[in-house]
Amino acid sequence: MTNNPATRISDFQALEMLQQMPTAELMARADAIRRARHGDQTFYVHSHNLNPTNRCVVKCRLCSFWRAEGDADAYTTSLEEARKNLEKAQGWNLTDLHIVGGMVPELDLEYYEKLFSFAREMLPGVLLQGMTAVEIHWIAGNAGLSVHATLERLMAAGFGSVSGGGAEIFAPEIRRQIAADKIDADTWLDVHRTAHQLGLPTNATMLFGHIENDEQIIDHLSRLRKLQDETGGFQAAIPLPFQANGKALGVQYGPSGDRQVRVAAITRIYLDNFPHVRMLVNYMDRKLLGVLTHSGVDDIGGTSLDERVAKAAGAPQSQKFFSADEMEAFLSNHGWKPVLTNSAYQALGTRQEAQGTSERWKTILEKAEAGERISAEEAETLYVEAPFQELGRAADARRRQMVPGDIATYVVDKNLNTTNVCTTGCKFCAFYTDPGSSRGYALTPEQVVEKVKKAAEAGATQILIQGGLNPELDLEYYETCLSGIRDNIDIWIHSLSPTEIEFLAQKAGISIRDCIQRLKDAGLQSLPGGGAEILVDEVRERISPEKTRSQTWLDVMETANELGLKTTATMVYGFGETIAQRVEHLMKIRDLQDRTGGFTAFIPWSFSPSHTELDCPRVQNGTDYLRLVAIARLVLDNISHLQAGWVTEGTDVAQLALGFGADDFGGVLMTEEVVSATGLDHGVDEEQVIHLIREAGWVPAQRTTQYEHLSIHRVEEMCANRPASRRLRVIPTRG
Ligand code: SF4
Repeated sequence: MTNNPATRISDFQALEMLQQMPTAELMARADAIRRARHGDQTFYVHSHNLNPTNRCVVKCRLCSFWRAEGDADAYTTSLEEARKNLEKAQGWNLTDLHIVGGMVPELDLEYYEKLFSFAREMLPGVLLQGMTAVEIHWIAGNAGLSVHATLERLMAAGFGSVSGGGAEIFAPEIRRQIAADKIDADTWLDVHRTAHQLGLPTNATMLFGHIENDEQIIDHLSRLRKLQDETGGFQAAIPLPFQANGKALGVQYGPSGDRQVRVAAITRIYLDNFPHVRMLVNYMDRKLLGVLTHSGVDDIGGTSLDERVAKAAGAPQSQKFFSADEMEAFLSNHGWKPVLTNSAYQALGTRQEAQGTSERWKTILEKAEAGERISAEEAETLYVEAPFQELGRAADARRRQMVPGDIATYVVDKNLNTTNVCTTGCKFCAFYTDPGSSRGYALTPEQVVEKVKKAAEAGATQILIQGGLNPELDLEYYETCLSGIRDNIDIWIHSLSPTEIEFLAQKAGISIRDCIQRLKDAGLQSLPGGGAEILVDEVRERISPEKTRSQTWLDVMETANELGLKTTATMVYGFGETIAQRVEHLMKIRDLQDRTGGFTAFIPWSFSPSHTELDCPRVQNGTDYLRLVAIARLVLDNISHLQAGWVTEGTDVAQLALGFGADDFGGVLMTEEVVSATGLDHGVDEEQVIHLIREAGWVPAQRTTQYEHLSIHRVEEMCANRPASRRLRVIPTRG
């Protein structure tokens, strides 16, 4: 696996790419290398974890797994207990048994020899992987043996591969702060060199997103690349995102989605002599993991049953996979050919070549990137044929033309639902309940005003009032609510969807125009674009037969614009509609905007089927979302702002959208009930939003509903208390 000097990048080039290259472009480069190596295959393992003890003499500051002698939850697994643990794993069709843990005198070389030899008998054909270079060096020292002799004895007992743990960051100035008592970088590399010389495959980790800077990341990768040139024994490089929860390092946030994608991509591009780049599913959000598989990552780790180290580190347990089938489904959902393997990549399946699609998309993309209007047919071709990273790169460039400068905005707002009682019964809605149901509620106008007052006192500048179509709540009710807010609270009233306006007008027996005029007179200042879902009646007939028809939705918005009210436009996708129908939705929005110019922003988000009556053929993943955001930016050439949807996509993927054409992070949202009803529960506060925007390389600015800047959080105010590595990545504004 020799490196090709022609494609090899230097440390300086790698640093520049890590710091400067737009994220979508970095993803595209890494993905091309990954596909050249593995085609459309993505690897995973079905592993069981055994962590013999959480007691440890090394006590690293970065680690929240270790326990001190006498701690209530300190434990050490006897050989008998280990045997029982493995008995339950027999019949699980495992590929790997992963054994890592703390270091204590009683768990010596004999302990591990016995453990590996009965594991080999009990789990034939399963790769016995584990033990970090730190553990091996420590056990060898305790046994008074060389690392070489120690590894030979472990291999004789069945040990098959050295895990990549304990590498953290090699730079001594960082290692001293995070793992002062751990072996230094050269010793770690020597253990792996010895393993390679003995024919033992190993992996290599890099723990990032704590106090290291970009230079130290490239230094770490460079030391690995040098050893790999020498021995060729490494199988996978494993960038590990630091889990900041409550650690002793004074780091508030771990690496965000954008940072994880950039580090994974540069790892793939720079380590040109490593076969695989693995990111571990049990350390991150699944939507982000999906995007990472299109950013140079060809392996998503494994089921990691009984895994305790990541759990102790505070990694999101809800994201774990519990079966090989679940991992296969996840990878297929992302268009990959799942390949079950082990951590030494033995028993690899045959390779399939990647996608052979036409190149028509290239000319269309150049046209769109240059700001030329594209047709529905061209938009469909782009949507179906263009790699999503290329769409992202072009949409990012387009965004810079349409919203010049280095600012990305957010608004501090509150979503307030007046009632969950609704007569419409949309099949995709998990929020509503029928009239008369014990679960039903309806706020009084006084309660509405009180809640809005509290939100304004807490800093909200915008109130978004919406609710079910409740026969008890008529136009007078909303006029009372709105005027009560207008007369008592300094907040912008951005409320009510076209569906509600149609309902209130019909109930009052008046026209849409008169209804909007009365609401405007009562204080309504702009309309959010709720209720649009997909503006194609064939789809609406299936998902919400009783709801406003597409043309009526557009008519309400047109009337509102004519009456001087600005509006936003939304889209909910993933109901099984076709790409053509999604493009039709975008075209209808664009056509109306040509006529009125009333839309300030476009906000797409994916349908979440949980707790709803509607099944969906395929749950939309993070790459589906980023592809749609980029397409929206390239098609909607007359709508300035595009909002990233963290409520449905999670903060990581929403942050990535800021590199795919989005320029706004939406609302900080003090409360949100409709999407939460589906079980999705992403929450952020203003400080986190500022952090996420900054990590994505933009200057965060709080905005009004009309996108005026209220406060711009330039880097100066931030750098004061941030480690060098987390200073703002200044993206050069390309001409
Ligand atoms: S989406 Fe709105 S209109 Fe449809 S059922 Fe839910 S609350 Fe009612």
